[in-house]
Amino acid sequence: MPVPTLLGLPYDAASSFVRGAAHAPGKVREALHSLAGNSWTEALIDISAAGVMRDAGDVDFWRSDDAHHAIEQAIEHLIAGGGSPVSLGGDHSVTYPIIKAMRPHHERLTILQIDAHPDLYDEFDGNRFSHACPFARIMESGLADRLVQVGIRTMTDHQRSQAERFGVEVIDMRAWEAGARPSAQGPLYISIDLDGIDPAFAPGVSHPEPGGLSVRDVIAIIQGAHGSLVGADVVECNPDVDPTGLTSRVAAKLVKEIVASMQSV
Ligand code: MN
Ligand code: MN
Repeated sequence: MPVPTLLGLPYDAASSFVRGAAHAPGKVREALHSLAGNSWTEALIDISAAGVMRDAGDVDFWRSDDAHHAIEQAIEHLIAGGGSPVSLGGDHSVTYPIIKAMRPHHERLTILQIDAHPDLYDEFDGNRFSHACPFARIMESGLADRLVQVGIRTMTDHQRSQAERFGVEVIDMRAWEAGARPSAQGPLYISIDLDGIDPAFAPGVSHPEPGGLSVRDVIAIIQGAHGSLVGADVVECNPDVDPTGLTSRVAAKLVKEIVASMQSV
């Protein structure tokens, strides 16, 4: 049984608006281990107990001039060592190299993306590897069998046609409010862009978009994936615009519940 393993990805060079997400892994770990809380999840799993969770540290991007390659290698190494990756972004561009490294280990793979934005642009500002593009790269390379998006509220004409082209299942906020819920079988990878959550709960993101999910909504999705989760990332926390640290705390809470959801029954 693979052990959920944290991997920090302090990378924000693919952000299209403001940078800062590279500062998140340290802040999320700080919140995760803060004495303001405890190490037990809602399902009564102690994440500090032996064998429940590991931490592989951060990828050192200073030692590589190819960030995507460095991420792929780190994920391959983590999986070879018996881990299931729980990556801490970083901007959302990191998900493409993560999935590239994971795909050979899973004949079937469904991705559940929580996000205000579809991130399906063919290119953005001339960059095909922008954080606005990772799911276009993933789907055109056949790296996932299904992509289910939840929380979307910034669809554009171009991205709508991309979603149709790739067969993406989009549960936008209007559909969510009408009661639509994702039904994804495993193996399942969850990619959580914190801007999918309403800025009332998670204000410290680079592209805040009102009208989103609650933290509780996202926890319910994570807990509902119990037994089928093979990997996850929590991205786009931006400590530079998170003065109270609330968004790092939300990220840490989600990480705890992800780790619990990854435990075998
Ligand atoms: Mn987003
Ligand atoms: Mn995103």
